[in-house]
Parts: sequence; C-alpha cells; structure tokens
Amino acid sequence: MINNNLHNKIDNCIAVVSGKGGVGKSTIAVNLALAYVGQGLNTAILDANVWGSSIPILFGLENHRIDLTSVHSKIIPVEKFGIKILSSCFFESPEQNNRITGMDASKALLKYYFEAEWGEIDVMIIDMPSGAGDVLAILCDQIKPNKTIVVTTPQKLAFSEAHHIGLMFNNEERKLPLTGVVENMSWFSPVEDSTQLHYLFGKGGGQVLAGLLETKLLAQIPFAQGLAQSADEGKLLTYAQNSITIPIFHKLAFDVLGED
Ligand code: ADP
Repeated sequence: MINNNLHNKIDNCIAVVSGKGGVGKSTIAVNLALAYVGQGLNTAILDANVWGSSIPILFGLENHRIDLTSVHSKIIPVEKFGIKILSSCFFESPEQNNRITGMDASKALLKYYFEAEWGEIDVMIIDMPSGAGDVLAILCDQIKPNKTIVVTTPQKLAFSEAHHIGLMFNNEERKLPLTGVVENMSWFSPVEDSTQLHYLFGKGGGQVLAGLLETKLLAQIPFAQGLAQSADEGKLLTYAQNSITIPIFHKLAFDVLGED
C-alpha cells in the first residue's frame, strides 16, 4: 500500500508533470479534469505553476481574485465547469508571484492543498511546474500523490528531460507510483482527411519514455485543430465537448484511476 499523504477528503491525487514546458501538461491536466467531471466525479485542480501559470487563462479566470486579508478568511476554491480550482494567481499579481522564492511558493501551495475548503473530492489534479525544481520535489514529498502522469511530445528533446522527472518519483527514496506516460501532439490529421497522419514531432517518443521508466504508455493525443484558440479564449469546455480528443481523454481518465 502506498503511503500517501492525501487528506481524508481527497480520494485521489494525480500529479501531472513534464520535463519541458510547452508539451501540453496544463492542457492535459484540464482536459482530464473535464473528463472526470463528465464521469460524475467531484473534481479539483491545484495549479502549482506559480511562475507562468496557464490554468487561470484556460478557465477564463485571469482576473479572478480571492481576498485573504481578513484573519477569518477561508481559502475557498473557485468553481468553473464543475471543477474546483485554486491557483496562486487568484491571490497575488503576476509581478508579486514572479518575485516569490521556491520555498515560499511551496509553502503557499501546501497551504492551498491542505487547508482550503475543497469539500469531498474524488479526484484532485495538480498541474505541477515543468522541470525538476524545488517546488516539484517539496510538493511530492509533502503530498505524496497516489498517481503520476508524465507528459511528453514524441521528440527526444522532450522525452529525455521527462525521463529525469519520472526518475524523481519512482526512485529508492521516494517510491512514488508512476501511473504512466501521455504522449501529446503525437500526430496531426487535417480535418478534411483524418486518415492522413503527419508526425510533426517524430514518432514513438512516448513509448520509448514508458520503456525507460518501466511504466505504461497510457495515451497518445493528436494535435487538435482549434485547441490552442479555445484555450486562449477560456472556452475549453465547449471545445472539449466537440473534440476528436474526447474519447481519448475519457479512456485516459478511466485508465488512470484503474492503475495502481
Ligand atoms: P505546458 O503546460 O506543458 O507548458 P500547455 O498545456 O500550456 O503546455 O500547451 C502549450 C501550447 O500547446 C498551448 O498553446 C496549447 O493550447 C497547445 N496544445 C497543447 N496540446 C495540444 C494539442 N493536443 N493540440 C493542439 N494544441 C495543443
């Protein structure tokens, strides 16, 4: 049995990690959350990207602020599309967040995780910072997520860095479970002809990474036209409900909870 530190109201905590930024980690985290909500589960997202956060934009919550100035203030997550969300961007301006140290960022994130009024949560997804920084290490050690998904593109440049991140989890010291690898932007198919597959970032990197980390390749997600634009506009829900990626995310969501 894994010795995780999930508090008693959070049944599952999924860390979504990557080596490089820009491989689609936040996009996967949010689409996975939408899939869980669609499956009727109480779902939450903690945005752990204090520097360069995408979650508020993806949810159209860039200007949302939570005021904690009163001593009686409670940390109440924001709810959007049925998902409970917390991000340090709801508390501090981007300029203030840019000045925060790794130690202070970790403290704030642990406070959001352990002290916020999340209610009963079936699945908490943590959108971790890219790369192997202190924040990732501290959150892993304190929270001990019971599921971890490593996101990469098929490119060697992406999966070789993701390999090091994966090893931060399933090493002798931490022994945190690696649930599997998700390969994003695996290919591109034009809308006019979905039989044509263009391998924009090469082929097979996700499988190679899964082999290196002795885990599974859980999913391959194609480059989806319209995803980037809907993300910028905070319209991911509308997009996710009409996208070719829906069945992939639903299967991924189901498989992740099924894996131990
Ligand atoms: P990360 O969290 O790894 O930095 P993001 O989730 O912010 O990456 O994604 C980086 C960019 O790629 C964004 O513009 C996003 O909209 C786009 N993107 C991610 N995954 C896909 C995909 N499968 N199809 C099309 N665009 C994608």
